[in-house]
Amino acid sequence: MTEEHKIDPWEMAVKQLEKMGEILKIDENIIKILKHPIRIIETNFPVIMDDGRLEIFTGFRVHHNENLPTKGGIRFSPEVTKEEVMALAFWMTLKCAVIGLPYSGAKGGVICNPREMSVKEIEKVTRRYTHQMINVFNPRSDIPAPDINTSAREMAWIYDTYSMLVGHSALGVVTGKPVELGGSLGRASATGRGVFFVTRQAMKRLKLPLEGATVAVQGFGNVGSWFARIIAENGSKVIAVSDWQGGIFNEEGFDVEDLYKYVFENLENTDQTVLGYPHSTKDISNKELLELEVDILAPCAIEGVITKYNAPNVKAKIIAEGANGPTTPGADEILKENNILVLPDILANAGGVTVSYFEWVQGNDALFWTEEEVNNKLEEIMVRAFDSVFDYADECCINDIRLAAYAIASERIVKQYELRGIYP
Ligand code: GLU
Repeated sequence: MTEEHKIDPWEMAVKQLEKMGEILKIDENIIKILKHPIRIIETNFPVIMDDGRLEIFTGFRVHHNENLPTKGGIRFSPEVTKEEVMALAFWMTLKCAVIGLPYSGAKGGVICNPREMSVKEIEKVTRRYTHQMINVFNPRSDIPAPDINTSAREMAWIYDTYSMLVGHSALGVVTGKPVELGGSLGRASATGRGVFFVTRQAMKRLKLPLEGATVAVQGFGNVGSWFARIIAENGSKVIAVSDWQGGIFNEEGFDVEDLYKYVFENLENTDQTVLGYPHSTKDISNKELLELEVDILAPCAIEGVITKYNAPNVKAKIIAEGANGPTTPGADEILKENNILVLPDILANAGGVTVSYFEWVQGNDALFWTEEEVNNKLEEIMVRAFDSVFDYADECCINDIRLAAYAIASERIVKQYELRGIYP
């Protein structure tokens, strides 16, 4: 275990919340409410594995608040903890608010290692978890989506299980579904595309050219791979990429389409890694990747990877947070002192939930939008959110973009409480 993994994400979230409350002078009752997720569901459930063994799995669903229907993905990982899911649900509240989506935050997780499970076993875990959540998920009040180690495949099983149990097809109960089952075109690429839009806008603000800019991407899953493909397509040079196994480097820049094909079309699901890609000039560790001299560093894997220990060594000009919570509060301070521009997760990776919202709208109203329409609407929303955050930072002379994003989000959340009042 590395230093980074010891960070408790909920502790991190609470620190961010307290800082936000203090600097932005938010009513302390609101901070008190936001520090306590409104609902934490924990479930233990049995699954018969392929070899006949019975295994107990633990799953969570956390609703951070319910001012609006709750929204957020489900991750499958051996590292899942209740505290992690609580933090992720809190960040979803802020993310939806900064974009202006009609959602509050939620998150789900199951402690399991899909890399060591057969497809059948993953399916059983997904379906049984959905069954456990039958009174929790709801097209009108709690809508899950993909996250780490879950994709359209798992969303199809959730959709099917939920629909079977309630007795009708409930298109709006989950987003990130396969297109053939009411998923939205453009959903798969949405998070990475959103990271690209905000990075492009930030480069413009810094008056740096995107063409030829050097990029390092940590994580080559859904977010990192799409971000790398799109930024490379726009002329930047992706010189380093890493995943759970380690990283690869080539100062000339990778042909990312070819790398993508190599990883996702050649290799078996469980062995998918960038390591071994023939056009790498040297292997690098995840730690080395974060410290490379690049224009853009995109941590697109897990939380807590940039800490106060390695932040002094980060040399990128821009950090685009594709992952949720990759930078700890201690690291934030150091990066700010070193004039490194951090594009915070709640803004940078909001493209996924934005297109999830499009999918929900299409599903509920039986609409169908083209991929171009989806991508254009996404661009418009991401650019608008980026501008509102940066304009706020300029007006209030804040050189901390996370704080500016929190300010925009918290204004909306405070307003929600004012308007609804505290029941009864
Ligand atoms: N899991 C993604 C996130 O962290 C997407 C959530 C959603 O689409 O609801 O933003």
